[in-house]
Amino acid sequence: MNASPADQRRLVEVAELDARIRQADHARRNPPQAARVQELLAHRQTLSQELRTRLGARDDLRTELSRIESDVAMVDARSARDADRLASSSNPKEAQGLESELASLARRKSDLEDGELEVMERLEQADAAVAEQEALISSTNSEGADLSAEAKRIVAEATAAFDAATRDRAAIASSVPAELLAYYDRLAVRSSGAALLLRRTCEGCRMVLAGTDLQVLRQAAEDQIVTCPECGCILVRGEESGL
Ligand SMILES: [Zn+2]
Repeated sequence: MNASPADQRRLVEVAELDARIRQADHARRNPPQAARVQELLAHRQTLSQELRTRLGARDDLRTELSRIESDVAMVDARSARDADRLASSSNPKEAQGLESELASLARRKSDLEDGELEVMERLEQADAAVAEQEALISSTNSEGADLSAEAKRIVAEATAAFDAATRDRAAIASSVPAELLAYYDRLAVRSSGAALLLRRTCEGCRMVLAGTDLQVLRQAAEDQIVTCPECGCILVRGEESGL
């Protein structure tokens, strides 16, 4: 196939834009923050599970505390009633019974209050454990939000680069003969499509060409399409090709 040196150079521009398009497409699909965001989501799930456990433990302690408080109230009511009855009793036997019950109620109340103190201490620790877990979740959320915003910015940038390169590619491709462009497109499936030969090196695969291959290139007419013997892309010759 033949093509003017100018059209061949346009193919190199097309190839460069195609590389930029692929790069931008990859960048917009794979923002570098994505993996960490996924990690944080999984981490948050574990943290939330632990938070539920800690909230459950705190609820149990609150229930236990209110049960003790209502027991104390019952003991208090019973003691008040017994004290009233004792004050108005004229029966010594009844008075003795009431006194003994008041003493046992006082012991019971003291035991309940000891238990209440212990539960209150544990409740304080449970409150701290809940607060600690909530702080962890909140910092995980804010790290995730920051990373997501950053990823969104990178995706937007890559999308803009993708759109710009796609527009430029269309503009340049429209000035390349259709048959030549179709040939390029076929080669571009397996190689960079077209590349400059620079100082005896194919810029498409970075291989330095052998002497015999260079000899073939030297003999080819300027408007003859030649391909790289290493990677198969169209080799575009110029002043710095070193031929
Ligand atoms: Zn090559």
